[in-house]
Amino acid sequence: MSFDTPPAAGCRDAPILKQRGQHEVFCGLTGIIWLHRKMQDAFFLVVGSRTCAHLLQSAAGVMIFAEPRFGTVILEETDLAGLADAQDELEREVARLLTRRPDIRQLFLVGSCPSEVIKLDLARAAERLTLTHSPHVRVLNYSGSGIETTFTQGEDACLASMVPTLPETDARQLMLVGALPDVVEDQALELLAQMGIEAVCVLPTRRRDDPLSVGPNTVFALTQPFLGDTLTALERRGARHLPAPFPFGEQGTTAWLRAVADEFGVDDATFERVTAAPRTRAARAVTQAAETLAGKSVFFFPDSQLEIPLARFLTRECGMTAIEVGAPFIHKSIVGPDLELLETGPQLAEGQDVDCQLDRCRAARPDLTVCGLGLANPLEAEGLATKWAIELVFTPVHFYEQAGDLAGLFSRPLRRRAALRLEAAE
Ligand code: SF4
Repeated sequence: MSFDTPPAAGCRDAPILKQRGQHEVFCGLTGIIWLHRKMQDAFFLVVGSRTCAHLLQSAAGVMIFAEPRFGTVILEETDLAGLADAQDELEREVARLLTRRPDIRQLFLVGSCPSEVIKLDLARAAERLTLTHSPHVRVLNYSGSGIETTFTQGEDACLASMVPTLPETDARQLMLVGALPDVVEDQALELLAQMGIEAVCVLPTRRRDDPLSVGPNTVFALTQPFLGDTLTALERRGARHLPAPFPFGEQGTTAWLRAVADEFGVDDATFERVTAAPRTRAARAVTQAAETLAGKSVFFFPDSQLEIPLARFLTRECGMTAIEVGAPFIHKSIVGPDLELLETGPQLAEGQDVDCQLDRCRAARPDLTVCGLGLANPLEAEGLATKWAIELVFTPVHFYEQAGDLAGLFSRPLRRRAALRLEAAE
């Protein structure tokens, strides 16, 4: 099917099953794992409990041995008793940290469930600490708590906290919003440059001093679908959102680039010249990786908010059928263009009531279930093939050159199953 022919009936107005109940998701602290790699002079200081420190340790895996730029100040019982002392202690800890690590230029105080429950005012702490440590270090604050945030929303909260501090500009420019791996970001910038779109900045920047500003002539395109608060914060600064399908797969990338190209008046011939070769490469890579996927069904548990664009990719480019597409939140102003391209049929679900959803999944017996680590092995034991959703956030998957790898992430569990079955039969 060609991208130029949207389905006769897309999912933009399809009914959404709203679920409330037991959740099986990460909290927003996990965003620190990829954000600290992206922002090379930032440090993320979680103000939380031992539980939060354990979460970061287990989610970061071997990364914790590489002197990472994140850590946890543990709230002790004495802190819980006297809040004033907790503020003083936090200031002492920060001073100690900054003396030891002069390479740090931005410090994020990251709120957690415990710091929120005891109403520790981290926003004020950040203000006070900025006064103490500026101009060398800027201190910001956001919440990554499980009460307020789900998984990738941690990145949203972090980026949104930076927007009010950005310098003002009147320049006509494009801002790419979302933390992409450096190699993917470079590919995107190169494609835009080849089309003559050079005034481009990226939020977040790799280093604090890299150019980044915002204003009424800034147009921004999201590269990740979970950035609702950042979108609102940018609009508050006068910038304008450019709605587009997300750059997953050959078709998604082309549609995303098309939206940007149209906004900046790039002519068709230039667009064609720049995109033709990488499009062909991407389409070929997807076809190869998708051999195992064609005709198979997929069921998404809610996890990262990437579910709707990925369902669009898997159904349109890999020949899969979506049974249910669950997402923690569905912002139609953000995923609307992807919903339009997703053929009606799958059940859309927002939020989670995990037991009911497991019942639906077992009844449907999908060929592939996309879910978190907590559900993956139990479902495998029940004979269902699963794909861990977290990998989709850690692995380079956007734009043309990664389109084949993206399809490969979904086909691998099915290939592995087939290989194991063969081995067992031998
Ligand atoms: S922030 Fe809340 S949900 Fe996340 S690890 Fe800490 S206590 Fe658990």
